[in-house]
Amino acid sequence: MTDIDMKWHEEGICATTDPDLFFPEGGGAGNAIKVCLGCPVRRRCLDHALTAPEDHGVWGGTTRNQRRRMTKAA
Ligand code: SF4
Repeated sequence: MTDIDMKWHEEGICATTDPDLFFPEGGGAGNAIKVCLGCPVRRRCLDHALTAPEDHGVWGGTTRNQRRRMTKAA
């Protein structure tokens, strides 16, 4: 993790959930994405993942491939 402010992450639902859910091996991101949809910091999480960028796992309700497409489209 870098020096950037990640305090918002403490308010994320994943802070109290199995972290492996958000880094599924071989696909299967659906359950993590469902959790993210109800997360109070989802928008901030997605902004962070696009800016950092986070190249692994589910962030802000998106997979790596979805974020790559969002970045290319921007
Ligand atoms: S949006 Fe998802 S990955 Fe981001 S903090 Fe919330 S639960 Fe965690």
